[in-house]
Amino acid sequence: MTDRVEDTDVLVVGGGTAGFGAAIAAARQGARVTLLEATSKVGGVMAFCPGMPWGGAYPMDEIIGGLIEELTVRLASMDPPAAEKRNCTLDNFGPEIIYDHDLATLTMFEMLEEAGVRVRLGTIAIAPDMDGDTVSAVQCCDRQGPFSIKSKYVIDCSGDGDISAKAGVPYVLGDASGNMMAVTISFFMVGVDWKRAFADPDPYFEKYAAKGVAENRLHRDLAKLYLMRGFHEGTVFCNSVHVRGVDGTDPVAVGAATQEGRRRCRQLAQFLRSDVPGFENAHMSMLSPTVGVRETRKLQGIYRLKGEDLARATKFEDGVVACDNPIDDVMRAEGEMTHDAAIGSGQYYTIPFRSLVPEKVTNLMFAGRILSADPAAFASVRGMPQCMAMGQATGTAAALALRSGATVQEVSREELVRCLSQQGINRLNVVEMAAQ
Ligand SMILES: Cc1cc2nc3c(=O)[nH]c(=O)nc-3n(C[C@H](O)[C@H](O)[C@H](O)COP(=O)(O)OP(=O)(O)OC[C@H]3O[C@@H](n4cnc5c(N)ncnc54)[C@H](O)[C@@H]3O)c2cc1C
Repeated sequence: MTDRVEDTDVLVVGGGTAGFGAAIAAARQGARVTLLEATSKVGGVMAFCPGMPWGGAYPMDEIIGGLIEELTVRLASMDPPAAEKRNCTLDNFGPEIIYDHDLATLTMFEMLEEAGVRVRLGTIAIAPDMDGDTVSAVQCCDRQGPFSIKSKYVIDCSGDGDISAKAGVPYVLGDASGNMMAVTISFFMVGVDWKRAFADPDPYFEKYAAKGVAENRLHRDLAKLYLMRGFHEGTVFCNSVHVRGVDGTDPVAVGAATQEGRRRCRQLAQFLRSDVPGFENAHMSMLSPTVGVRETRKLQGIYRLKGEDLARATKFEDGVVACDNPIDDVMRAEGEMTHDAAIGSGQYYTIPFRSLVPEKVTNLMFAGRILSADPAAFASVRGMPQCMAMGQATGTAAALALRSGATVQEVSREELVRCLSQQGINRLNVVEMAAQ
């Protein structure tokens, strides 16, 4: 227990893309918002794997709209521009947004400040205090010690859902067998001759990788190197070093995987310089500070989004964002990296608000990669633009609930969808009742 107590209207736990969306949306609707982020930077996975493209932003080649559009326009309007739309070189992925990492995170922080969000970096949420089915406060800790924050509504955007799990929201870890997708550590090669490096259109550089693996100079999981042009000329983003079987909720396992991943990144950087044309004079830069964790808990919401919903191109009545991403599965257990189409070509589905709302806890929502989804749906919905929009939906819902003192389950879904549409989120007006 502690004497230090703060209070707020909406407490957002986690400053990744989902938390960014949730905090700004609630604050712009007039709520007093506190955003807690355990690390020293906003972005979450985006900050842990700097330079990761914002994928899935263009279902049917139209931007999903809302905050990701605002952020992209803001970056693209800079002189020189700091973001642009590019085609992805992998099958089944639509166009994506490539951006300058430092300007993007700086701009995200500025947008939080402009919205009046109280951002607390280096602060970790530890446990909720429950009053029946309501979170009355959240116990936190910063370098000055423990304290608690009383909040009318809490939005868990922590990627791992610790607070929701402790508040009693049921969850599944990974797939039905508990297997989670591999974690990944990324880096850049800087000083690459793009023309020579990308002369061969294979995005995986398989013929080179095969030699490296056969000669034991690359780890066997590096048979496919995914190398892509970075935002700046001569930079190459290396999103290739995957470590299997890591429980992202276990800090010791995450630390060990980070160090193992760093060793493999160094090995790969040396290999690129020695074996791949165009990389001879390049060097490694922006090595991830920690592995990026794709998948841990999937919380149970009022509705669990399923692979079949995607295949049927379901547009839910309470859909909050469109998506057409493939089923982007990455090395679960002994599995491979696959990205099969989730949906017929030229179609999209929407993510329902009910997948962000627990059945019982009256003032808690969750957004981002912890949404309620089965493993197939999860593998598609988890792109950063969609996470940001899920956050935007929960932040807006919290502000609506605040006005009337409603529970999160009572929020008018029609009104929420109308508000999101007014905020510029596209394709929400296509109402088709799904078989549920
Ligand atoms: C290696 C990798 C590659 C990917 N590639 C792409 C890609 O190319 N394009 C794309 O769009 N998406 C990609 N994704 C998916 C996407 O990055 C994630 O799904 C998305 O970033 C998740 O966002 P989030 O906000 O839900 O969670 P996270 O980004 O995980 O953010 C959660 C935040 O909460 C903080 N936090 C956690 N617990 C607490 C606590 N108790 N108190 C305070 N703070 C806390 C964390 O520090 C973190 O900042 C990739 C993911 C990974 C891991």
